[in-house]
Amino acid sequence: MTGLSAASVAVGVSAPASSDATPGRPIPSGAFGLGVASGDPRPDGFVLWTRLAPTPLAADGHGGMRAEHVPVQYEVAEDSSFKRVVRRGLAIATPELAHAVHPEVRGLRPEREYFYRFRVGTEVSPVGRTKTLPVHGSRFSFATASCQAWYHGYFPAYRDIASRAPDAVFFLGDYIYEYGIVAGGNLWREGVTVGPEHGVEIETLEQYRLRYSLFKTDPDLQAAHATAPWLNVWDDHEVQNNYGADNSIYGIPPELFVHRRAVAYRAFYENLPIGLGSLPEGPDTQVYQRYDVGTLARINLLDNRQYRDPVPVDEADRQSESRTILGSKQEQWLYDGLRRSPATWNVLAGGVVLTAITDDRIEQWDGYPANRRRLLAELQQAGNAVMLTGDIHRHVASELKADFADPASPTIGVELVCSSIGSDGDGADTDQYAKDWLQHPYVKFYNARRGYVHTTLTRSELTAEFVNFPYIEADANAVPHVVAAFRSPVDAPRLEAL
Ligand code: FE
Ligand code: CA
Repeated sequence: MTGLSAASVAVGVSAPASSDATPGRPIPSGAFGLGVASGDPRPDGFVLWTRLAPTPLAADGHGGMRAEHVPVQYEVAEDSSFKRVVRRGLAIATPELAHAVHPEVRGLRPEREYFYRFRVGTEVSPVGRTKTLPVHGSRFSFATASCQAWYHGYFPAYRDIASRAPDAVFFLGDYIYEYGIVAGGNLWREGVTVGPEHGVEIETLEQYRLRYSLFKTDPDLQAAHATAPWLNVWDDHEVQNNYGADNSIYGIPPELFVHRRAVAYRAFYENLPIGLGSLPEGPDTQVYQRYDVGTLARINLLDNRQYRDPVPVDEADRQSESRTILGSKQEQWLYDGLRRSPATWNVLAGGVVLTAITDDRIEQWDGYPANRRRLLAELQQAGNAVMLTGDIHRHVASELKADFADPASPTIGVELVCSSIGSDGDGADTDQYAKDWLQHPYVKFYNARRGYVHTTLTRSELTAEFVNFPYIEADANAVPHVVAAFRSPVDAPRLEAL
């Protein structure tokens, strides 16, 4: 493969242009084959995103683009027919960032719908819809999604999310999976074939880029991106299964694994609508972020992977008081933000489950009990805690206890775990793991089909609908089913079935 090596990315060096680059030639048609997106919403603006890829599945990972700079114009309007354009700008798509652009648009009005589009030469992109955050806020509705193994099935969940046009979409990790995709093995999405270049575990920057391209060719995923601003965090599979910090569980030495992390983090930035503050510096990238939805909700997006302590060597290690999943800097940032929170709701969104389930779930917060105790104490003080997670490919609703070991301790918030968009295929309503979860009185719901959660916050209550689908492997046409719904009143958190 040609292009950036891991080492050149790690030190931030640009790749030389290839010898056949001739600026001024028109790029091939179909440049917007990966769609458009917006993210990082604020009261005065957002980040727009597209990545030029006229041949998204070109095996070399370059999307059919030559190694040259391409000017990309963008427009933002108050109406979908662009009669009231409020911003025009120019961004330069470069081969160093896979011809992705991330223009940041500021100075707009709060709590307003906006429409945007891009132009390259004579070609115009699809129109995206996005929305700024409020400065006060009385109602905020969002979908949570995670774990979109493209090869395990279609994405009816994204089609349904797009039809609901929420104020935002929270993506909680596993946007891609790194595994080789093999027909007759893990390729369960019926009626599709993939080339041999997809058949190996991805390692290089070009392979990560190609994997994002493959997943992003899904029209329902593109529709969900084009419908609402996304708030994005990663979990493990954006790099490698169950990695933590610079530790691979497959025996790759840390000094080599950080190179892989560097290219994986770079591809994540290139392919998602996130701000310049999350541009990787070598193997380091800050993706944890805070968003204030007026004074209605303070949203803390958490990075559960980059800073976590390694797998415990024994039970004493697991119980160690100094053990951290967030890392000391992110922990302090989070607690500072919770202590100063002006909001009715204190929302945390991250990859892995907080609720205590079994001591051997060391990948989740069960592997970090001291960090969980510190966090629960802060959440109890802050009040009206809402934890949003994914990772387990199951829907779960639970009540957060001040002390999970003491059933009589107060309920201090709720956790809403969204099932996967695609990972694990069709699934079933229940499975062999259900009893591990439902043994606890604070776990109120468990379902092992695919779907998403749609949550609405108001000044008086939280409501959450768990949406699932009877199947996803055969096609994208399954009808959505609200399999459970709950309400939690403000200042008296609990899960009341609706
Ligand atoms: Fe997953
Ligand atoms: Ca995961």
